[in-house]
Amino acid sequence: MTYRDQLLSCPRCAKPLDRRAQRESWPCPACGGVAVDSEELSRLLARVVPSLATADKLVTPARTTTDRALICAACGQPMRAVELHGVALDRCYRDELIWFDAAELDELLDAVIEDAEARRSWHQKLRDLLFAN
Ligand SMILES: [Zn+2]
Ligand SMILES: [Zn+2]
Repeated sequence: MTYRDQLLSCPRCAKPLDRRAQRESWPCPACGGVAVDSEELSRLLARVVPSLATADKLVTPARTTTDRALICAACGQPMRAVELHGVALDRCYRDELIWFDAAELDELLDAVIEDAEARRSWHQKLRDLLFAN
């Protein structure tokens, strides 16, 4: 996709995102958020909770908010306010990027994993997968 060739800037704090990793995720070293390709997110979630695996596109219902829309890291257009398993996220349907603020990734894991022990280990695994260089 085209955005991979562009400089991605953080929707939250406008600092450059980390593009060193050859991954489908772009963390922000400044604020701790992360932009993730929606297909990659589907794959990761399916690994975390196999019952969430789906062949279809990741479905994220729209949510209503009074906050100003975040600006997509890739195309500069406003992102859509969406939710996934009750966690408020932002998504650009053009670039298929999903933005997590720092705490939202943990919130999502808390929402999809019931077992506390498994949750802790997945917090770390997902962090390694999304943020490692
Ligand atoms: Zn940031
Ligand atoms: Zn975009």
